Amino acid sequence: MELILATRNAHKVLEVSRLLAPYGLTVAPLPQSVVLPPEDGDSYEANALPKARAAALALGVAVIADDSGIESAALGGRPGVRSARFAGEQASDAENLAKLLASAPAGSELRYVCAVAFVERDSERVFVGDCRGRLAAAPAGSGGFGYDPAFLPADRSDGLTMAQLSEVEKDAISHRGQAVRAFAEWFTSERSGGQRSKSA
Ligand code: IMP
Repeated sequence: MELILATRNAHKVLEVSRLLAPYGLTVAPLPQSVVLPPEDGDSYEANALPKARAAALALGVAVIADDSGIESAALGGRPGVRSARFAGEQASDAENLAKLLASAPAGSELRYVCAVAFVERDSERVFVGDCRGRLAAAPAGSGGFGYDPAFLPADRSDGLTMAQLSEVEKDAISHRGQAVRAFAEWFTSERSGGQRSKSA
């Protein structure tokens, strides 16, 4: 089955497609005609749900959307839902990364969070995942995106940043991996339950 992912972020389309493939689910890109609402909510859920609702209403199909960010304990949880705009409204990933490295001490605690919202007609669900880690002293690695070169996952003891891990290694521990798998497990069990009761 195909789901629309309500995002304009190509990295997210790649990651979510990879994560859903083992469940037999594929991701189709969002048509350009769909206008997504601004991400001005004060929680990941409050940003993800309106994106999924807007696309589901416009297209009449099942849609998922995510919102994610990184929280620094040394910065009282910032940048959080403002992670994409930490260094300014039009900031690049590199500028946001440089600002985090300059603002928080090496070794301080970080947490990635991801909320995945699913909307299909009047059915709505949100799944949340997180991934704990620490701030590296300097960026390393070229995989992943965003803050990955400065994120040392707590689940590993090899000193590698998230950007130095393979896709499979990142997916196994990432906040998006946790949230997408929770969604996929719920969704596939709902659908197989639905199919069983239709044929019973
Ligand atoms: P949004 O979910 O589109 O609002 O973007 C969240 C921002 O958080 C991204 O632009 C990245 O800066 C950061 N972020 C979210 N997930 C990740 C990740 O898996 N790796 C690195 N940075 C991430």
